[in-house]
Amino acid sequence: MTPDINSAYLAIRRDRLQAQLEARKVPALLLTNLTNIFYLTGFRGSAGVALVGPARNVLWVDPRYTLQAREQSQGFEVREARGNLLKEAARWVRRKRFGRVGYEDSNLTFREFSLLKQEAGQQVRWTPAGGIVEDLRIVKDAEEIGWIRKACELTVAVFEDVRGEIRPGILERDLAAEIEYRMKRKGADGFAFETIVASGKRSAWPHAHPTSKLLEKSDLVIIDLGAILAGYAADMTRTLYLGTPGPRVRRLYAAVRDAQEEAVEASRAGRPACDVDRAARKLLGSKKLESYFTHSIGHGVGLEIHEKPRLGRSEKTRLGNGCVITVEPGVYLEGVGGIRVEDTVLVTAGAPEVLTPATKELGFTG
Ligand code: ZN
Ligand code: ZN
Repeated sequence: MTPDINSAYLAIRRDRLQAQLEARKVPALLLTNLTNIFYLTGFRGSAGVALVGPARNVLWVDPRYTLQAREQSQGFEVREARGNLLKEAARWVRRKRFGRVGYEDSNLTFREFSLLKQEAGQQVRWTPAGGIVEDLRIVKDAEEIGWIRKACELTVAVFEDVRGEIRPGILERDLAAEIEYRMKRKGADGFAFETIVASGKRSAWPHAHPTSKLLEKSDLVIIDLGAILAGYAADMTRTLYLGTPGPRVRRLYAAVRDAQEEAVEASRAGRPACDVDRAARKLLGSKKLESYFTHSIGHGVGLEIHEKPRLGRSEKTRLGNGCVITVEPGVYLEGVGGIRVEDTVLVTAGAPEVLTPATKELGFTG
């Protein structure tokens, strides 16, 4: 059973949203993004429309979800709609004579928006407010950090558990399936993404899907995994070498690991987000490896596997106390293979906390 969200946190989230709406002079916000609806209401169904208003908050669901919504949602009046949920919401907006309503413009099709406009009538001015809830989600509260921490612990436990069994002769896809099975057995609700196991030359593809290739002696193997718990994702990558690595692979690995640790150190509240990327590139640059680091340093993680904050190399926005991000530099050399090390990291005012402290040992003689 999925746990309920502590109502005190839901109330704080709604208050933060209300303050944002007041600042933008938007009296009401119509929510259509289900992740945002869960974040604000606690409702975990697969269909719903919500409205945060000045006097009351309403959640429209279809009959499949009426009982569940009444049980899970807090601070919202649940209304059962037998027809189109958006249409019901638009008609309600019309009856309440709202002059101006915000909507999630990144989450409606043109057809849905046309329906809203038509059903709500001409007196409503629709204001795009896309990203307003996603921005609130950047800084996690204690409830969220608790779940991310547990999802990370589970992910680390599965990796440590399976690590000792990795050896030449296993199929990439079998290893990925075994990892996913063990995550489920340990209580994961799901996987944040399809588990990546990429070996040998294929490890040079940063997002390779596992295939029926056999793991072979002297392969580099990238394993990228993450459990979901109560809606919250974990994300971690480790690279192994099947055998005793020679000096070249050891040198490459040490550079990536050091770059990753420098970047983790730079993940501090109050610092511009681009500092995380810069720290990794500086170290890789000093080893003439920067050109092999071909993707971004990481991403925010929470209810979605990729969410704000952005960590791009020109991102000046400062990291907040309570952001959760991934830090994942890698180098990918054609014909040799790839090396990536990734941790999920909690940003605080002090030292960053690595939530996925699994072993980073490269050499492996299983
Ligand atoms: Zn990952
Ligand atoms: Zn990632």
